[in-house]
Amino acid sequence: ELAAELVHQDPGLELVGPDQPAELQRLSHDFHDYSPVLVPLFQDRRAQLAVRARTVEQVQVVAAACGRLAVPLTVRGAGTGNYGQCVPLAGGVVLELTGLDRLRACDAETGVVEVEAGALMAAVDQQLAPRGRALRLMPSTYRSATIGGFVAGGSGGIGSLRWGFLRDPGNLLGLEVVTLEPEPRLLRLDATGSAPLNHAYGTNGILTALRLPTTEAVPWQQLVVGFDAWDRALAAAAALPATALVLNALSLLEAPIAARSPWPAGCPAAAAGEHRLLLLAAPDTLEVLPSWLAERGGILRWQAPQGQSRGLPLRELTWNHTTLHWRAQQAGWTYLQMLLPQPEAACLNALRARWGEDLLWHLEAVRQQGAARLAALPLLRWRGPESLAALLAHCRELGAFVFNPHVVTVEDGGLGVVDADQVAAKAAYDPAGLLNPGKLRGWLER
Ligand code: FAD
Repeated sequence: ELAAELVHQDPGLELVGPDQPAELQRLSHDFHDYSPVLVPLFQDRRAQLAVRARTVEQVQVVAAACGRLAVPLTVRGAGTGNYGQCVPLAGGVVLELTGLDRLRACDAETGVVEVEAGALMAAVDQQLAPRGRALRLMPSTYRSATIGGFVAGGSGGIGSLRWGFLRDPGNLLGLEVVTLEPEPRLLRLDATGSAPLNHAYGTNGILTALRLPTTEAVPWQQLVVGFDAWDRALAAAAALPATALVLNALSLLEAPIAARSPWPAGCPAAAAGEHRLLLLAAPDTLEVLPSWLAERGGILRWQAPQGQSRGLPLRELTWNHTTLHWRAQQAGWTYLQMLLPQPEAACLNALRARWGEDLLWHLEAVRQQGAARLAALPLLRWRGPESLAALLAHCRELGAFVFNPHVVTVEDGGLGVVDADQVAAKAAYDPAGLLNPGKLRGWLER
């Protein structure tokens, strides 16, 4: 009935139905298989219909039909999320938005952009480059992820060392949103009105366009630095963000991870026992950085301007790409995400003492409420749910703030508490609770 109504309303809409089961399955899934907890929860869930919309009007047509017929609707960008954010738990329609991809405006004075939600982030940056501007924050999936999916489902990544996280005030200036109702509204929300839709997994509105600040485009230099001693590498990683050297990313890989990581063309493989610090640094740091690192035991192994090296960009060895590369070679591993308490070494040593080589350390420098901090995305050997629960409890006991990637709802993967504004936005923009059902705990518990 829904498919017939959609075709009647707009014959230009592209539909994928049960006659294309493999495509429907693909459009119903993402990268949640990083979590052995999530796989059984999501594996049999799929949409009955996927719809590709290319215009805001088409989004409104789909929202109206779902609103009238009370059909669940889950929005999908590129489907690169790690927590099954775009898996339709209640079936229904998956609305794929990669065709909604125009850069509508870039203000010459302020650099503020308005961009449609399905635009790939790398493609947006390509259009901004001739204007000397760039997006502030990007996931390591920047080449394949959409800007709407990043804001609705991501949190931070490259650039978080300078600009903090997506939900920090100033990183999202406004949204254009289609509501899910029999007669959908097209709203333009300011920064305050947009906040409850930021990182809400598309549970409280369909984002059709975003207003975002940009930053000056910098020809970032990619640097790979080797350390023999973990303590010295960790000390350098903790101290570097407090200098005046401008960095866009800093990742530290413990030796066993570095030994198995792929590297950009021309970068030597890591020697046995070599820990590696990966940096994206401004060109004007280069006069100081090598000697600053050498004084702390770091040896520059490779350097190349971003965008000009062959093979993998350094960016794709960081954040959850580290997990991707490791899992491609090693069965039976998953990961965790946490903000480490300071001093980091005490927490890491306590975790090492109890969990040994079941945890391999991968750290990322970030800015948290204005201060430089180290986040960790350790690789974790999977030993079952009880062991995971004990590890999470131990991390919390030590003062780490865990962002659990093995849970279904927005709240459980974040601060753990219900955000009343997110729930209120859902009541206002999705009163029948049809958007991405099952992902907002505050709505389920209301
Ligand atoms: P999707 O996966 O398609 O969607 C994500 C969520 O947003 C879903 O809940 C979906 O329903 C919702 N959504 C999508 N579009 C809209 C819309 N227009 N309106 C409303 N809701 C919408 N994440 C990070 O934050 N930082 C990283 O560095 C990072 N690195 C990663 C590395 C790897 C190898 C992988 C596999 C994942 C990584 N991720 C990271 C997770 C993910 O890639 C990013 O969050 C990415 O930005 C998601 O974009 P997407 O277009 O794929 O979104």
